Amino acid sequence: DTSMTTHGRVMLKISGEALMGDQGYGLHPPTVARIAQEVKSVHDLGVEICMVIGGGNIFRGLQGSAQGMERTTADYMGMLATVMNALAMQAALEDLKIHTRVISAIPMDQVCEPYIRRRAVRHLEKKRVCIFAAGTGNPYFTTDTAATLRANEMACEAIYKGTKVDGVYDKDPKKYPDAKRYDTVTYDEVLQKHLGVMDASAIALARDNNLPIIVFSLDEPGGFRGILAGRGTYTKVHG
Ligand code: UDP
Repeated sequence: DTSMTTHGRVMLKISGEALMGDQGYGLHPPTVARIAQEVKSVHDLGVEICMVIGGGNIFRGLQGSAQGMERTTADYMGMLATVMNALAMQAALEDLKIHTRVISAIPMDQVCEPYIRRRAVRHLEKKRVCIFAAGTGNPYFTTDTAATLRANEMACEAIYKGTKVDGVYDKDPKKYPDAKRYDTVTYDEVLQKHLGVMDASAIALARDNNLPIIVFSLDEPGGFRGILAGRGTYTKVHG
């Protein structure tokens, strides 16, 4: 698959939980630094990098609403959590001398930039890592949908979804040793079989714009760079 070696611009989506290490909550600075190093090794290849980071390590809207909080307020809290994660990742990338912009769907000018599509494209052309924060800016969505939306807007060639496992399986590989990994799987199969890649709105948005989703393990050191160079195992979700 030669497309794997010709990527010019990519979207990296990680969950908030990827930043919490072995803790049950929040940010684990050594883990943030390790992921920043993964991003750097791809940035060093000249690849233009967009990132979306979830907020589940701090707050999820559904969790708040399950406790009786009004859903939209809880979702705004979740979006704010993603801004905190984005700032932590920006700091870690800047420690590695990578120019980085945090771009929020909800303007908060003292903290980061507002989202202006042409401006974000310009940052990418200048090889600045763009971290898109505050999700889509709308309640009832997820950061998977935000990653898909921004990846389309930024004309990324694919979404790289870094997870704890090296692809998409027919059942949970941490529970079932006989779980089978797909090399490739279609968007429709993901939707029909409820394979836990991304939520349905994100999958549908990727499908309708023919945006491939590459699911790979972020726990593997050098994994992100390896996948971009065509090494390692992953699942490609496509049309
Ligand atoms: N969220 C939202 N709209 C968006 C993106 C996120 O309301 O466009 C809220 C939602 O409450 C979600 C929380 O932000 O639960 C954190 O995002 P997500 O659950 O996607 O984080 P992840 O699971 O990737 O860590």
